[in-house]
Amino acid sequence: SQERVFNFAAGPAILPENVLKKAESELYIWRGSGMSVMEMSHRGKDFLSIIEKAEADLRKLLNIPSDYTVLFLQGGATTQFAAIPLNLCNPEDPVDYLVTGSWGDKAVKEAQKFCKPNVIWSGKSEKYTKIPSFDALEQNPDAKYLHICANETIHGVEFKNYPIPKNKDGILVADMSSNFCSKPVDVSKFGIIYAGAQKNVGPSGVTIVIIKNDLIGNAQPITPEMLDYKIHADNKSLYNTPPCYGIYMCGLVFEDLLDQGGLEEVQKKNMKKAEILYNTIDASNGFYRCPVEKSVRSLMNVPFTLEKSDLEAEFIKEAAKEKMVQLKGHRSVGGMRASIYNAMPLAGVEKLVAFMKDFQARHA
Ligand code: PMP
Repeated sequence: SQERVFNFAAGPAILPENVLKKAESELYIWRGSGMSVMEMSHRGKDFLSIIEKAEADLRKLLNIPSDYTVLFLQGGATTQFAAIPLNLCNPEDPVDYLVTGSWGDKAVKEAQKFCKPNVIWSGKSEKYTKIPSFDALEQNPDAKYLHICANETIHGVEFKNYPIPKNKDGILVADMSSNFCSKPVDVSKFGIIYAGAQKNVGPSGVTIVIIKNDLIGNAQPITPEMLDYKIHADNKSLYNTPPCYGIYMCGLVFEDLLDQGGLEEVQKKNMKKAEILYNTIDASNGFYRCPVEKSVRSLMNVPFTLEKSDLEAEFIKEAAKEKMVQLKGHRSVGGMRASIYNAMPLAGVEKLVAFMKDFQARHA
């Protein structure tokens, strides 16, 4: 069928319809260049105008201070799990990780190869449903940085504010893959923010790193060139061939977010969508359940289970028939998960909650 569905996938994920249409209209020939963006030299003036505009728009959106560098890289957020310790520490340096879900857990495991990470708190024994009170955290003053995952995509746990790093350089590093550009963020509180694009801002293949300039240039000698922030910063993300088309798509998304009035407006829409979905779950008398502590529930990824778990397959099948797809929870946790990123329209969430209420009425 040629009809679009409401795609609740965690990533790659739904993109704004007007962005897709604009890309379609420019796919064959980009603005008088005689060719598609996919065919352009990454060093030609047309592509340079695309990457420069994408960066300028992202700087506007997040109000990125001038002493921060923006990089458009490859390798996904997963590659940053290694790049961060390689660029910020020596092999014997201690670092602190706060682990609130499986992505933070993966990050610390990778860091173990390149420095001496210490997990200062883990939510694992409580099935990753919480974020601790920051006062109680025992941070190491000698740590090179404190790492958090701002939004755990699988478990649906999101930081609503951020711990103050107590290490001597005061460096906080955040994986924002799944809530990047979903709300305003004070970039100056972070040493590094990084995110794979494929949830909120574009197709897979682009990884965005926002890094304070004074953290660039200290990579361990064994660091591969492709992981060295200085190489990419000195070459304005054009050291090698970048993911050109993906960067172009991210640029269209940034433009669209600015047109919507910026991240404060975007956050309002995201809060509204999350509210109606969580309210439906909480008002279901236990038919649906979200395990995450209320104060840290994600605005982006909403995991929920059915009290009658044998109905889960039926729920997913019926929803798909009504053009709501990818509602199955991550294989590691089961249940359902609705990812409601920026590009998910309110109408998609309204349709989902209407379906949930109807499904409950039929199966209660
Ligand atoms: N961190 C988070 C929070 C994620 O959600 C993901 C992807 N689901 C990753 C890291 C890994 O990203 P990538 O697949 O881009 O390497």
